[in-house]
Amino acid sequence: MLRVAVVGSGPSGCYTAQSLVQLSPGVHVDVLDRLPCPYGLVRYGVAPDHEKIKSLQSTLRTVLEHERVRFLGGVPVGPGGVPTARLRELYDAVVYCVGAATDRRLGIPGEDLPGSWSATEFVSWYSAHPDAADDGFLSGARSAVVVGVGNVAVDVTRMLVRGAAELRGTDMPQAALDALAAGRVTDVHMVGRRGPSQARFTTKELRELGSLPDTAVVVDPAELALDPAYRDPSGLPAPQRRNVEVLRGWAEEPRREAARRIRLRFFLRPVELLADGAHVGAVRFERTAPDGHGGVTGTGRHEEIGAELVLRSVGYRGVPLEGLPFDDVTGTVPHRAGRVLRDGAVAPGEYVAGWIKRGPTGVIGTNRPCAKETVASLLADVAAMERREASADPLDALRAEGVEPVEWAGWRAIERAEAELGASLGRSVVKLPDWVSLLAAARTADGGADTAAARTADG
Ligand code: NAP
Repeated sequence: MLRVAVVGSGPSGCYTAQSLVQLSPGVHVDVLDRLPCPYGLVRYGVAPDHEKIKSLQSTLRTVLEHERVRFLGGVPVGPGGVPTARLRELYDAVVYCVGAATDRRLGIPGEDLPGSWSATEFVSWYSAHPDAADDGFLSGARSAVVVGVGNVAVDVTRMLVRGAAELRGTDMPQAALDALAAGRVTDVHMVGRRGPSQARFTTKELRELGSLPDTAVVVDPAELALDPAYRDPSGLPAPQRRNVEVLRGWAEEPRREAARRIRLRFFLRPVELLADGAHVGAVRFERTAPDGHGGVTGTGRHEEIGAELVLRSVGYRGVPLEGLPFDDVTGTVPHRAGRVLRDGAVAPGEYVAGWIKRGPTGVIGTNRPCAKETVASLLADVAAMERREASADPLDALRAEGVEPVEWAGWRAIERAEAELGASLGRSVVKLPDWVSLLAAARTADGGADTAAARTADG
């Protein structure tokens, strides 16, 4: 028997576990997650109104319910949890699928003014991540600036203008639903530093902005035309050409009145967040111009956009995990086909998959081939692998060391509690938004335990 630990139960962790059990009949996989809930960004990143993408959870569920896969939630790996070196002692191999847990910084003055948030903080709040704080994101905001033109920027823009009626059917926590429903934001400026043909959003997501009730999408044809590829998109790859076509459609539409406006802006690079009293009041941008090589240069001309709320949506970044090598430039773990490299040499028994391997790009499905590549490397290494005692169950050792995971029954109990909460509110499933209620629900499961995670959360 080969015992493999997969650290992280998001898409990359689940696809890694799936490939392992599909390709090797003798493998047993423990999928560890620091949260008591599985699915990573599918649960805590995919926007609540994207039900179709969220339904991917049922595919990931079948992986975690496989007879040779075990979910061990509430088990942090690294400082304060199970050291990476200890995992290596307990398992024949460890695959780190820990994603990219933080966000990139803009590195400009005023970035941390009250009212300026990373998009991840906002997403975590409306997705009920138990570490998220209710920071009064929307209080007093009428105008919002979203910096960045990727799919996360599109998500947060859409959530800012959606009304209660559309959000009620989602699994969004009640407090976030109430706050968004009471929000007074009328104008959202989504701003890219390069041109429309270089935006990172995908066409389906972009187009959706045009179908939101009582919301107009506003673009300035003259600003779009600063991009030579907008004027002549014939040389663009199909995804970018489709984006440009959607934008052109909006540019050519007659202006329509609506309660809310999404203003898509381009060629504006943020240079400073300006205070109004103690709070953010505006973002100062420098107008940029295409440099002919896909980049932009500054023009020395500036523009301010008033905003009581700023969401910085400029991409995620990997976080170093104690005991694992880390490339500070790319925010990833150095690897060769998924094998972790220490000082350029393969580290036996250690692997990576997902965003910590290749950086925070691609859609959920991109993780499938990525995980397959890593698993192929791992299985090719088995013959030479230093093997652990086959009869020793790592969970017994972990328990003896004080780790009490939330197992699958505990997670199912959380799901039941979320269905009950939803029913009590006259909604469908509603997520539990904090550690205390998640762990209390998990403890109602048969065999549920007073988990180590509960002790961490309480103290
Ligand atoms: P992203 O796609 O990398 O987009 C980041 C955006 O931030 C880009 O427009 C980038 O502009 C801009 N940016 C970076 N640094 C900046 C700076 N200093 N100043 C101004 N702008 C800056 O990142 P993301 O939106 O966080 O998405 C991450 C991944 O998740 C992507 O692969 C995305 O497709 C995926 N995702 C998918 C969905 C979906 O399928 N529905 C939903 C959410 C996320 P430049 O291009 O000029 O660098």
